[in-house]
Amino acid sequence: MKRVLIAVVVAVLASACGRVEKAPVHVVMIGIDGWSAAEFREADMPFVKSLMEEGAWTLDKRCVIPTASAINWMTLFSGVQPEYHGYTQWNSTAPDFTQAAGIKTIFRLEREQHPSSDILVTYQWDVIRSLVDSSAVTTILPFDQTEAGDFEEVDYAADYFLQKSPRLSLIYFGTLDETGHEYGWKSDQYRAYLTHIDSVVKGVAEAASSMGDVVFVLTTDHGGLGKSHTGCYVDDVMQTPLFIWGKGIKKNHKIEGPAIQMDVTATMARILGIETPSFWTGRVLEDIFE
Ligand SMILES: [Zn+2]
Repeated sequence: MKRVLIAVVVAVLASACGRVEKAPVHVVMIGIDGWSAAEFREADMPFVKSLMEEGAWTLDKRCVIPTASAINWMTLFSGVQPEYHGYTQWNSTAPDFTQAAGIKTIFRLEREQHPSSDILVTYQWDVIRSLVDSSAVTTILPFDQTEAGDFEEVDYAADYFLQKSPRLSLIYFGTLDETGHEYGWKSDQYRAYLTHIDSVVKGVAEAASSMGDVVFVLTTDHGGLGKSHTGCYVDDVMQTPLFIWGKGIKKNHKIEGPAIQMDVTATMARILGIETPSFWTGRVLEDIFE
């Protein structure tokens, strides 16, 4: 009995000191490179379109300029604009000028503030590995940037969700952007690939439900027009889809007001219970919460 009492006291004290962590929710970010809002409207994506009823969404989330990949992914991961994080080229793997002090990705913040968290990143484009601050991540694994690679990545994530129940995951797919560059953003091939991506997103979402309480964040870095995403074409390049659904998120809710990449990070941090640096400018999308 004495031992039991001591164990209870230790557990209560540890909890009070924040050393026993209860993960209230799992956040799964699904990153689709090169997904334009204009193309989404036309797309045959039955699962993702059903999310408009199942969660909160906007087709008006803006990317930052220049409208290229590493710049926008780093903004999504770090919660700050390029002038602060310093990644200015489509394929920057390090800051192109000295960063503002105190820049940390959401993966690093989660690691620091919830040290026992399992954090998963899967990706298909090597630059992503350089952007997430990989030493903060528990498991980071590349997959082929092909249709087969998409399915292998989903299968791997499904097993990982089941076994490790990561508190924060990024499941990144680069194949849609490649299809846009090769065939064009309004091509039949791009639109067919969007339908494939729909099944990929559905696969990740169904697999992650094995973890219980999950919030999903589905978004992109930029859209595209012609065979590139250069230039500030609002509908085709700058305005991009954002879907957030799951535990505690309103259903059938159009996100209010304009949104931008940094808002996604700030909102994820709120869901994860992460304290964010005071200089973050992202707006928590408060209206999405029940
Ligand atoms: Zn991109």
